[in-house]
Amino acid sequence: MKKKIFIIGNGFASLFLIQYLLLPMFPFFAWPLRRLHSRYDITVIGNGTFIYFPAIPEFITGNKSTKDISIDVRPFLNRRNIKFIDAQMTDIQDGGRTVTTDKGTYQNDVLFLGIGPAFLKDDIPGTREHTLSPCDGPDSMETFMEKLATMDSGVIYLGFKINKLDGFVAGRAGQMYECACLLDYVLKERGVRDKFEIHFFSSNLDKDDKGMITDRLQERGIILDYGYEPAEFVEGGMRDEDGTFRKADLILYSPGITGSDLVKKSCLPVSKGGQIDTDKYGQVKGLSNVFAAGDCASHENPPPWVPHQAHMAQLRSQAVAKNMRMISSGKKPSHTYRYELSCIMNMENDAMWLHMASDNKPPFWNIFPQHSKKLIGVKNIFEKLYIFYLKYL
Ligand SMILES: Cc1cc2nc3c(=O)[nH]c(=O)nc-3n(C[C@H](O)[C@H](O)[C@H](O)COP(=O)(O)OP(=O)(O)OC[C@H]3O[C@@H](n4cnc5c(N)ncnc54)[C@H](O)[C@@H]3O)c2cc1C
Repeated sequence: MKKKIFIIGNGFASLFLIQYLLLPMFPFFAWPLRRLHSRYDITVIGNGTFIYFPAIPEFITGNKSTKDISIDVRPFLNRRNIKFIDAQMTDIQDGGRTVTTDKGTYQNDVLFLGIGPAFLKDDIPGTREHTLSPCDGPDSMETFMEKLATMDSGVIYLGFKINKLDGFVAGRAGQMYECACLLDYVLKERGVRDKFEIHFFSSNLDKDDKGMITDRLQERGIILDYGYEPAEFVEGGMRDEDGTFRKADLILYSPGITGSDLVKKSCLPVSKGGQIDTDKYGQVKGLSNVFAAGDCASHENPPPWVPHQAHMAQLRSQAVAKNMRMISSGKKPSHTYRYELSCIMNMENDAMWLHMASDNKPPFWNIFPQHSKKLIGVKNIFEKLYIFYLKYL
């Protein structure tokens, strides 16, 4: 009997898991064969739309839009003979074997969770009402752009917060730096940069933090409010601990990452930071045949600099795919994953490759420069290739 594998979520972690689980056959040629014979009985539960989040900051320049980065994954799944249930998971019980959704309840033999992050929006009061965020997806970023289009002058704050309770970077710093630099670029293009103040704030940054990213912000005249955290976001701005009001016409803010509330009420173990507690093999701790990867899952003994990234989701899902195969053939899981921070920060008139790795290996054998506008083209190629793969292969 084929094992019933249920995959929850259709984001990076889940799609990478499918990619690695169904290897080594090249998907295009494998398509007709997979329809005749599949090794696994796989079902995906999700909303059917994959969002390529790394391109959201480029809404600011108008180079990308919701349509460009939203992909219907049903044909991708269909080509792989994978069933799809258009539903939202609402609970998991029986040690992971029973998944409840808004459309029904399902039993599985193997469960994979790739349900992405939730954000600590109650951490700073007023976050929901008075801030927008690229991390909330395309709609929030479109709203930011609509508001920006109506402004000829003003004060804009961008910032982030990191949840460090699990010992790594559960938050989105790089993306917010990218948004700040792109904002500077478009305002200059519009010829109104001198009528705007752009502030960058985060209580996770020391007041005197230095480095390549800080240099990029400073050379763009972005005001560094490093070390700052508002006590509250309010109408028209922010209020400090001592009651001082700071004017802000627009706020783009990314709160720290945590796990969704439904994880807390399910049978899944929860880490200190609120995420699904996961071991170094990608197994959910204490449960059998339950795995998690990506932004919903904590790490076991992570280096403190590692962030949640699509790239980390890929490395983690790859290890999970190998371990799932080992367990299904009666062996113990043995595949762990490397830790790597790797992303290209696009500033439109410049770009930098931000990189760190637990084994000190450089990205792509160092064939790309670390700091060059040409990296924007490289970033676009990665995106185009991945979207082509999802749409057609
Ligand atoms: C603005 C921005 C820029 C970024 N730039 C980069 C970058 O340059 N490089 C990089 O590597 N990373 C980048 N990231 C981070 C990257 O996008 C995330 O790390 C990645 O999306 C995590 O993948 P995931 O599968 O864990 O979560 P997601 O991609 O968020 O997918 C989660 C999936 O789960 C589904 N889901 C959630 N809850 C349920 C439920 N209850 N039932 C069913 N389905 C559910 C969602 O609909 C979604 O399909 C960026 C993120 C943002 C926001």
